[in-house]
Amino acid sequence: MNPNPYIDDDLQALAETVRRFADERVKPGFLVRDQTRDLDRTLLKEMGDLGFICPELPETFGGLGMGCLAAGVIHEEIARADLSFSYLNLLASLNSHILSKYGNPDIVGPWLKKITAGEAICAIALTEPRGGSDAANLRLRIERDGDFYVINGEKTSISAADQADITVVFGRTGTPESGAHGVTALLVPMDTKGLTTNRFDCHGQRAIGRGSIFFENVRVPVSHRLGDENKGFVQVMHGFDYSRSLIGLQCLAVARVALEETW
Ligand SMILES: Cc1cc2nc3c(=O)[nH]c(=O)nc-3n(C[C@H](O)[C@H](O)[C@H](O)COP(=O)(O)OP(=O)(O)OC[C@H]3O[C@@H](n4cnc5c(N)ncnc54)[C@H](O)[C@@H]3O)c2cc1C
Repeated sequence: MNPNPYIDDDLQALAETVRRFADERVKPGFLVRDQTRDLDRTLLKEMGDLGFICPELPETFGGLGMGCLAAGVIHEEIARADLSFSYLNLLASLNSHILSKYGNPDIVGPWLKKITAGEAICAIALTEPRGGSDAANLRLRIERDGDFYVINGEKTSISAADQADITVVFGRTGTPESGAHGVTALLVPMDTKGLTTNRFDCHGQRAIGRGSIFFENVRVPVSHRLGDENKGFVQVMHGFDYSRSLIGLQCLAVARVALEETW
């Protein structure tokens, strides 16, 4: 009998299917990906084709309309095989919720289809060099210039910084004193002029990696805003509660494998 009351027979069957895929396709390449520091985009596409990326999104955005528990079950099984690779599920679920809820459908729609198909990676850029715990106290500048926003500053400790295709960026549009009420969120394509990245040596998860993103007069159209101006923190940060549970599953999966191997 399954000891977890939230996991019914269908979710248990899903977990077993994903575990077979993870054992056969994800686990064997873990060390190679860790050494080459390269996420295997073919494998990502395979996961997308199987419906393993963001299955909780509605079908109109490329998902399967399944529950968040299904996303959690998949995430946990992929994390058992490769912690780095499971970041792709985590980033897809967190960012797709933000994009589908707060983005302009004409702008975010095509990106969401690519994310769920395993054809694009979306990063999230909140943390800054001065420290991440006090997230509302961020300094990256976002200024309005006609139909564009102009971004200047630095984000750091960003997962997949140098491998992502797009990123959700939080910056200050209000005064420095405005705290959480002067923050705006934007969708920024990573190939936008003025944007550069680097990568840290992120032990244990070198394939996904972490790094800084530097913005020098990066211009994105106003249509790329997520939520209302100055409401980025209050509205968009709600998605973080969901991702925290997914991160919990990631950690549990790795801890369980460590215990099994030790035993
Ligand atoms: C593996 C990994 C992946 C990450 N991926 C991303 C990502 O994709 N995007 C992103 O935006 N960020 C990412 N981060 C950054 C993460 O959000 C930050 O590490 C986190 O917010 C903490 O910030 P910090 O590391 O700057 O630590 P600090 O904020 O500098 O904190 C350092 C220590 O001081 C303590 N502390 C801080 N403030 C106080 C206080 N007022 N009183 C008492 N103690 C305090 C903290 O608890 C902590 O122990 C990632 C981090 C890791 C480790």
